[in-house]
Amino acid sequence: MTQSNKENPLPRNRVQQIRQGIQSRSMKARKKVENISKEDVKGFFYKNAFVILTVVAVILGIALGFALRPYKMSYRDVQYFSFPGELLMRMLQMLVLPLLVSSLITGMAALDSRASGKMGIRAVVYYTTTTIIAVFIGIVMVLIIHPGKGGKDEFTKQEKIEQVSPADAFLDLIRNMFPPNIVQACTHQFKTTYGKRVVHVKITVNDSIFNLTNGSHEITREEVIPVLGTVNSINALGLVVFSMCFGLIIGSMKEQGQPLKDFFDCLNEAIMRLVAIIMWYAPVGIMFLIAGKIVEMDDITQMGSQLAMYTVTVITGLLIHAIVVLPTLYFIVTRKNPFVFIGGLLQALITALGTSSSSATLPITFKCLEENNKVDKRVTRFVLPVGATINMDGTALYEALAAIFIAQVNNMDLNFGQILTISITATAASIGAAGIPQAGLVTMVIVLTSVGLPTDDITLIIAVDWFLDRLRTTTNVLGDSIGAGIVEHLSRHELEVKDAEVGNSVVEERQRMEETNKLIPDYDNKAPDSETNM
Ligand code: ASP
Repeated sequence: MTQSNKENPLPRNRVQQIRQGIQSRSMKARKKVENISKEDVKGFFYKNAFVILTVVAVILGIALGFALRPYKMSYRDVQYFSFPGELLMRMLQMLVLPLLVSSLITGMAALDSRASGKMGIRAVVYYTTTTIIAVFIGIVMVLIIHPGKGGKDEFTKQEKIEQVSPADAFLDLIRNMFPPNIVQACTHQFKTTYGKRVVHVKITVNDSIFNLTNGSHEITREEVIPVLGTVNSINALGLVVFSMCFGLIIGSMKEQGQPLKDFFDCLNEAIMRLVAIIMWYAPVGIMFLIAGKIVEMDDITQMGSQLAMYTVTVITGLLIHAIVVLPTLYFIVTRKNPFVFIGGLLQALITALGTSSSSATLPITFKCLEENNKVDKRVTRFVLPVGATINMDGTALYEALAAIFIAQVNNMDLNFGQILTISITATAASIGAAGIPQAGLVTMVIVLTSVGLPTDDITLIIAVDWFLDRLRTTTNVLGDSIGAGIVEHLSRHELEVKDAEVGNSVVEERQRMEETNKLIPDYDNKAPDSETNM
């Protein structure tokens, strides 16, 4: 080796090659930048119009909210002001019922029982795994940070909240899965309430030693009994179970089931077209929802230190789950960049933040996954409605964390068994929670009752719940969407096999046929000729 080579380990030719390579690359990049035309910029904005508009709406909403706060608007004024936001919620909620039913029925009907069974198992394994991880993160965070240090003195608000026995809550969950009236399931859910019953007990005094009967008297006492009641809310769980079974049966009926399959397929397409229209209004609605909430909220500077620490703990837990755990899981399974996938979901995530309802966000989640991330419709139609109903990682994390926080402010030391009970009930409570604003706060009663914590203490955390609800809803929507990506990847072989057999949807099938006809016009024209020639 020569002296010069020792000093410079790369031969001169190689250095020149590298230099040339860098020069040609920078030339290409410069050319690319120079070649960016107005059309390209326009195209970029048009393609990302929804996301850009939604981000701008959030920024404007925050600015507007803080600008209006000094005016101390009355409750009535805030309601008027938030009206455009309320309209968005109403429009989205209007679509949830037909979307949920039609997408599940078509999703299940498009697959045979084996394929949907496999997909179902994958989805359930994903939901269970991520919910357990979320609960674990919540528990670890609250035990490490210990935001409830210092007792309850800081809190003043206390109200009475009705206790719910975990056993009754669990039975309600199962009852809701099997609604006796499918029409009622579109508007009502079962919920046990408690009533009182007067019981008359006859007591006979019997002296066993002298074998004398001293007579009997009657005492009356009151007994608390569970009464089956209903609440005004769509029974999504019941509709999911019914639609899945119905779809599966239609799918197995082959030609006989085709008219129903086509009907629900068309219904689904029509709803998705409505979603496409509503999406244009979404930024306006989101802006007013956010601004209204900021105008309405309590002064943050008045918040006690324990509540502030609690808020920070929940945010940290949710961030770890959303930014580290879920993307890592996606990467491990699919080997694709999770943040590109999340980029395609931005509008759904912002809508979740604005509406704090994963159900109301469902139509936008569908759009983002199918159009931006190109996830197969047979997967989204099946995985998303189920996910939006039962898979709530953010809610599970929050419920476990909040229950332990309440134990901490009550200076109660929880043993391992109690923490385990909290994790199990938090998981069940997240499954039972509806995808509507602050549903998690309601189902938290079950978690608290299971370990004997005072349910009235839920009021301690109400002040910050509206904000944390938005963050956990965003995490819930992210969890469902990443689940769809993972299930699609794992089910790709079955989907490919099915691809060869059936199309994705009636409308698409028709469009595909039209395109094919356009591509091969001569074939149709020639066919009769060839027949006549024969
Ligand atoms: N608002 C949440 C959702 O819709 C449920 C909750 O309160 O945790 O996903």
